[in-house]
Amino acid sequence: MSKNPETIALHGGEYRSDPSTTAVAVPIYRTTSYQFNNTDHAANLFGLKEFGNIYTRIMNPTNDVLEKRVAALEGGLACVTVGSGQAASTFAILNCCQSGDNFVSSTDLYGGTVNLFTHTLKKLGIEVRYADPSDPKNFEKAIDDRTRCFYAETLPNPYLRVFPMKEVSDIGRKHNIPLIMDNTAAPVICKPLEHGVAIVVHSLTKFIGGHGTVIGGCLVDGGNFDWTADPKRQPMFNEPDMSYGGAKWGEVVPQLTGANVAFAVRARVCLLRDLGAPLAPDNAWGIIQGLETAPLRMKQHCSNAQKVVDFLTKHKSVDRVIYPTLHKGAVGERAKKYFKGGNGALVGIEVKGGVEAGKKFIEALKMFYHVANIGDARSLAIHPATTTHSQLTEEELLAAGVTPGYVRLSIGIEHPDDIIADLDQALGASGKPNLKAVS
Ligand code: PLP
Repeated sequence: MSKNPETIALHGGEYRSDPSTTAVAVPIYRTTSYQFNNTDHAANLFGLKEFGNIYTRIMNPTNDVLEKRVAALEGGLACVTVGSGQAASTFAILNCCQSGDNFVSSTDLYGGTVNLFTHTLKKLGIEVRYADPSDPKNFEKAIDDRTRCFYAETLPNPYLRVFPMKEVSDIGRKHNIPLIMDNTAAPVICKPLEHGVAIVVHSLTKFIGGHGTVIGGCLVDGGNFDWTADPKRQPMFNEPDMSYGGAKWGEVVPQLTGANVAFAVRARVCLLRDLGAPLAPDNAWGIIQGLETAPLRMKQHCSNAQKVVDFLTKHKSVDRVIYPTLHKGAVGERAKKYFKGGNGALVGIEVKGGVEAGKKFIEALKMFYHVANIGDARSLAIHPATTTHSQLTEEELLAAGVTPGYVRLSIGIEHPDDIIADLDQALGASGKPNLKAVS
């Protein structure tokens, strides 16, 4: 199979045409259930002696095509789709941690993930320990013998500093702790599994779906982490699971499948089984349409974003532009180290004049949509302090890099001249017009 994302997005995985109809486009299998051949077949499927379709809460042939394609795109061995990116983050942690355990997470996170980690998981008895990624050693300092995983985002907003994934996954591997990366903001341009990361999660809602039409998420198992190397460190994979006949997932999955995909299998047969939250096949189909052109769109997103950055850095009404390559020193270097083919579509700006100027700017935008999403084909803008991050305390806001005047832009795939013209006229409304900058 090709290693090129443009080809993988269309042909990745095993699907060539529908086995019963030869349809080329992936059909939507709108079914809850699957007819068993006989009682032995049914028993074998439930007993994991054979793999096959049982019930759509756990697997579905439409989702299967999407899962195999995303796994191939990320260079992983298996993928499990779920109903949203939030469900993917939740499953990623619950697949490693139980009550009494802890995990170490980067402070650079999506606000919804902070809520999940700080409040909801705490109520389940799982402790998050935050580590500032500006020094990877902070992750090591936070470990104790109940630490089960590390968690971070490849390209977190609002700071837009690329995460030191090799540095932190090397630390994790010394202690048999896997690094889980949320790669939502950088599909195609970054492949975390090539840098020692064990598990990738995505909100498929964003650049992979790409059209602002469908909510979805997934977990990709890199197949590169030995869950059995330190049984005390990873009890979920080494102690008998009484909900599944005493299975020790780290041992049994490689025996059954011949592949190191214990994380993906456990997420599917335990977490999807018990917690629900599957991706609906209709939504999987919508995301497949988006995935087919995601590599092409990412090129345009990134090239437009670079043009916007070049324009805004010279604009009189802008105090500061935040973009991965604009960071100084090692942080800026990380974009070069980890990204190929572009530096992402997200751009942060601090408009001169603080909150009021920022609000005026957003309200004056004509083509940009004012929405909570990122990764749509259209250009989007939002003021995080009063929206996506508004449930955070002042301290948490500052730790997350959300200053009062910060505006987040998700640059779309429109013509760059039109994107820049809209930004320029809106900046004019917020302060001084900069007509000279528009050539
Ligand atoms: N991860 C990141 C980086 C996000 O930006 C988001 C949503 O904005 C999520 C996860 C959650 O995804 P979803 O909205 O699909 O639940």
